[in-house]
Parts: sequence; structure tokens; C-alpha cells
Amino acid sequence: MTQPGTPERPLRVAIIGSGPAGFYAADHLFRRKDLIIEVDMFDRLATPFGLVRFGVAPDHQKIKTAIKPFEKTASNPNFTFYGSVDFGSHLSLEDLKNHYHQICFATGAQTDRQMGIEGEDLAGSHTATEFVAWYNGHPEYRDHVFDLSAERIAVVGVGNVAVDVARILCRTPDELAKTDITDYALEALAECNVKEVYMLGRRGPAQAAFTNPEAKELGELQGADIYVPPAEAQLDPLSQAYVDESDDRKLLKKIEIIQGFANKPATGKARRLTLRFLVSPTELCGDSAGRVVTMKLVKNELLDDGGRLRPKPTGEVEELPVELVFRSVGYRGVPLPGIPFNDELGVVPNEKGRVTSDGTQATTGLYVTGWIKRGPTGIIGTNKPDAGETVACMVEDLEHGSFNKPADPTPESIRSLIEKRQPQYVSFDDWRRLDQMEIAAGAAGGRPRVKFTSVEEIQSALNKS
Ligand code: NAP
Repeated sequence: MTQPGTPERPLRVAIIGSGPAGFYAADHLFRRKDLIIEVDMFDRLATPFGLVRFGVAPDHQKIKTAIKPFEKTASNPNFTFYGSVDFGSHLSLEDLKNHYHQICFATGAQTDRQMGIEGEDLAGSHTATEFVAWYNGHPEYRDHVFDLSAERIAVVGVGNVAVDVARILCRTPDELAKTDITDYALEALAECNVKEVYMLGRRGPAQAAFTNPEAKELGELQGADIYVPPAEAQLDPLSQAYVDESDDRKLLKKIEIIQGFANKPATGKARRLTLRFLVSPTELCGDSAGRVVTMKLVKNELLDDGGRLRPKPTGEVEELPVELVFRSVGYRGVPLPGIPFNDELGVVPNEKGRVTSDGTQATTGLYVTGWIKRGPTGIIGTNKPDAGETVACMVEDLEHGSFNKPADPTPESIRSLIEKRQPQYVSFDDWRRLDQMEIAAGAAGGRPRVKFTSVEEIQSALNKS
């Protein structure tokens, strides 16, 4: 029998997850002009594009143009989208093996790392991902409630997600009204009482994980003054020694931006965003109703640990009164049914994207790309070369005859299985209709779109309920 990849016998690939990693993988596959490849992409959510829709901040519309090439990929006649189809409940690994030569997981990192401190689960303490998913209209988070009557809010972590959360909390209603933030979030944020937002970095300015354009934007908010305690803007001796030797211009710029904030006079805006460094939360303390009222912090110093500067508590402590806490200390992958998982790293063990059962032995026909492969690092574009590496392995394995031997690889057979298991699945044409409806709904208010935020709304708009 001929190898799959010919017009008579196309290579059938399933990609699980329709965020950037999944779409870049599809694109790399379609670029192989020597092979006929059919890609079926599955997402447990009704709508495609993963974190571009539910993660990228609503006031960062330019970043959302990343979907343009994905729309082009989706218009390939060999591409099929099955939205609202959940791997693990609607389809098992065995089902996929019965229908596809290769299966690539691009499921991202769907949960958060824990801080591991007392009081982390008190009322008023949330993960940043919950808040981000809420204001972005993720159907599973739209009913979350955040007590925005709080005047003082702490965001733990100084990565770009923490910056997004802090910035959204500091934006004025007018600034937010021009975005595609959900109406319920717009309303709640317009009424919020916040006066102080603290972003807390456990290491120093030189180790801040945020990127420079995002940091700079914090100094340009209409409704909030930025502040950095001058002593915390200074570099500790180890960081200073590193910086003195470094020609990393981005790093030097980052320090300049942060130190500029320390010298920026307050202009009497309604809110203040304070960036703190070298502090770690050690405990969240609650009132008698179990609501956060205070965060205990310890001052850190930095320690050289084999070339990496790590935070070490000094014993100097302080209490920061805060009524709401967002923990933004990084995302974490979740295990996939039937697929090996490295619990320590929160990723699927793999070698360049080939899923490995014991860390070395490749598992035939199974691949990963994106955050579930390498962990939650990098920007959207980082997923492109990452997917390229995985697809190169897929093609190499195909050439060596190493792929699943599905009993029934025809597109019709998987479609009829899905119609049986999830008759309300959403196709890419369905999504195009939803997209047009959302854009039309936004046009009246001069907004990019007004999102559908529940499965029921989506099904009803598509006449599927
Ligand atoms: P991140 O960049 O890894 O930042 C995590 C932050 O949490 C770091 O400051 C880290 O400090 C801190 N942290 C970790 N454990 C901690 C603990 N136990 N206590 C206190 N602080 C702790 O992760 P992220 O912000 O979730 O972003 C994920 C990825 O998405 C990043 O690559 C980011 O650039 C990207 N992203 C990009 C954009 C954009 O381009 N606009 C927007 C959002 C996200 P240490 O450095 O000390 O570990």
C-alpha cells in the first residue's frame, strides 16, 4: 500500500486545540507541497483561536490581528474545524487512532501555577487566568464573581499577564468602552472602587518578566499614576554586576523604564499603580468571613544559584492591606486522558514534539506543539517555529513509515461519529457567521466586536439549540 500523503490516500491529521500553536502546525503541514494532507482541528470551545480570543487583552487589538494568517489556513479546502468537540468526553484517544495517521496536541496550558502559601484560597484571592478569561468572555468563566468594591488590589507576579490584569484594572471606562471587553466586565469595572493596584515582583527590576512595550504602556495610563519605590527600583549588587557586563539593550531599556517610573511625579490621577520589587507574599490573611484583608510580605535579597539569581527571604516582613488578590505566577498545562504527562513541569513529555512515553521512547503517531510541549513561555509568534519543529518530526516519521494505521481514515466516518457524539458541533463556516454577527454588534458602539459569551447564545445564534 502507498504511504499516506498522496491524492488517493491523503495523510489524515487531527490537531487538538485551535489556538496559535494548533494553527501554526496546520499551516506548516499545508506548506508541504509534496504531500496531500488533510487537517481536522478540534476545540472543546465553540470558537477558534484559543488565547488570542480569550487571553490577549481587549485593549490590545493589534495583537489580535495574529488571527489573519489563521483564517487563511482555515480557508484551505483540506481544513476542517470541529468546535465544541471535547477530547476526553466526545472523542477518546482510541477514536482518534481509529481515524487519523497522526495526532497533534496543541492544548496549551489551561490552569495556573500555585504560590503554595497559606490563605491562597481565601475569598477574594483569584488566579489571573480566571479574571482574564472572565473579562474576555470565556464561556466557562463568565459567571465568575470578583468583588471589585475593593480599594486595594494586589497582582502577584511581574510577567505580561500580571501587566494585562493591572492595566485593565487601571483603565478608565472610556478607554475600555472602545475595546471588545465583555459588557458585563465593562459594567463591573466602570463601577469598581479601586484606588491602589500593586504589582509584586519577587526578584528585582532586572529580572522582571514583562516586556518593554508592555512596561512602557503602564506609564501612559489615562486614569492611573505609576509609582515604583525608589529603593526598589535600584539594582542589587549581583544584578548591577550582571548589567554592567551586559550588552542586552532590551534589558538596559527595561531598567531605564522602571527607574523612570520611580522618578515620575504623581499627577493626581484617580488610581495609582505601584510596582514593587524584591518582595514575596508569605500569607494571605482573612477577616471573620474568610475574605482577604491583608497580605504578608517578606523582603527578598538575590542569591546566585548556578548563574540564576534566585530570591531569598531576608526576614524583614511587612503587611500590605489588600481586599482582592490576583495570582499571576504563570500558567500550567493539564494532563490529557491517555497521554503521558510530566507533572513536575506541567507538560507532555516529548522530544522535539514527539510524545515520549518514558522521556525517551517516542509514541507512534502522537505529537505536541505550543505550551503543552514547551511550557507557558513566549509570545504568539514563538509558536510558529515551535510548530515547525513538531511538523518536521511528523514528516520525518511519515517518511520512515512510523504513523498510526487507522482502521477508518475517511473524513466521512469521523464526521458521522462526531454528528452522533456532538450534534451541535460548530464548523468553521458557523464560526464565520458568528464572527460577522459579533463584528456587526460592535459596529454601532464603535467597538471591534461584541462577543458571544455563552454556549447557549452561540447555539441559538446558529439555530442549533
Ligand atoms: P511569566 O512571564 O512566566 O511571568 C510569571 C511571573 O510570576 C514572573 O514574574 C515570576 O517571577 C512570577 N512568579 C512565579 N512564581 C512566583 C511565586 N511563587 N511568587 C511570586 N512570583 C512568582 O508568565 P505570564 O505572565 O503568565 O505570561 C506567560 C507568557 O505569555 C509569557 O511568555 C508572556 O510574555 C506571554 N504573554 C505575552 C503578552 C504580550 O505579548 N502582550 C501578554 C500576556 C502574556 P520569577 O521571574 O522570579 O520566576
